[in-house]
Amino acid sequence: MPQIWNFSAGPGMLPHSVLEAAQKEFLDYRGLGASIVEMSHRTHAVEAIVESLTEELRGLLSIPEEFEIFFTQGGGRTQFAMVPANLLRGKTGAYLVTGLWSAAALEEAKRIGRAEAAARTTGDVPDTSDLSWPEDPAYVYYCDNETVHGVEFPAPPTAPEGVPLVADMSSNFLTRPIDWSRHGVVWAAAQKNFAPAGLTVVIARRDLLGGLLPHMPSMFDWSLYAREKSMPNTPPVFQLYIADLVAKWVRAEGGVEAMHRRALERSALLYEALDERPDLYETTVAKRARSRVNVPFRLRDPERLADFIAAGEREGFRQFAGHASVGGLRVSLYNAMPLEGPRRFAEFMRAWRP
Ligand code: PMP
Repeated sequence: MPQIWNFSAGPGMLPHSVLEAAQKEFLDYRGLGASIVEMSHRTHAVEAIVESLTEELRGLLSIPEEFEIFFTQGGGRTQFAMVPANLLRGKTGAYLVTGLWSAAALEEAKRIGRAEAAARTTGDVPDTSDLSWPEDPAYVYYCDNETVHGVEFPAPPTAPEGVPLVADMSSNFLTRPIDWSRHGVVWAAAQKNFAPAGLTVVIARRDLLGGLLPHMPSMFDWSLYAREKSMPNTPPVFQLYIADLVAKWVRAEGGVEAMHRRALERSALLYEALDERPDLYETTVAKRARSRVNVPFRLRDPERLADFIAAGEREGFRQFAGHASVGGLRVSLYNAMPLEGPRRFAEFMRAWRP
């Protein structure tokens, strides 16, 4: 196979060793004579996977005991609805809108109850020290890393005293430590960094569970997942299995601190190349909010886009066109990407002539 560099924004690259391990035991899971995808979720083997994954995450991210860790389906967009369904309780959701995904979360929350934007920024994160919050905020919601716009919070925003902070970490989960003293709920769709699509992890402070609005589907109730150990119904077993392998890989590679260092190194290579050639490339994200995992940029001459993409593909680069809603280019650099990938891409950017 020729060397390919997969810069997909999601589903994204997973560690090669994890895929190989899964391939090796796909037909016969650990001597049980059946594939993991043929096994009842009520077997010890599957329960053990969920337990192991939960403990791995607790260790990797130093998640305090007062937080429940559970897994749901329906992807990120279902959490856009489950967050207000579980937390609104007649109050108002306050949203920090920094890009496409936080904007979509706000729109979804408005279908469930009262929700408003406390701040809207483009290409930057808001300064939350002097925002005017809604009168009765149920929670403050933000998207830690806007996958499309490449805007990442350098540190968690502040919320009014006693109001829980809720974070969508779908695209930067397991790429750096999380400050739990600042958060009430952190959730992430798995398909960027963590597992195949179809799995979402929710980490919620126990005292925030149990407030599902009436008339909501019972499958929206976070407390049900916590109580039933993520198995109120048949869970996505294969995704949980891969997530457990990925978590073990992260630990073996030095944990989330190591992932953070690598993410900084990888993204710095691209930002240096971008900053060197403002005549060729344009990036509109404020330096303090530049994402370590999704690097979007544009060509000064948009007419050359197809040529740039074709030349990149000849170098073995794949899936680096920008999101359909914004166009341009986007290079995504998740945990499994070796440093060599962005190093080569930066070289290519330096050598490219329109
Ligand atoms: N939040 C973020 C930050 C995302 O990047 C995405 C998907 N790219 C979503 C939410 C939505 O996830 P899903 O496609 O699983 O609904």
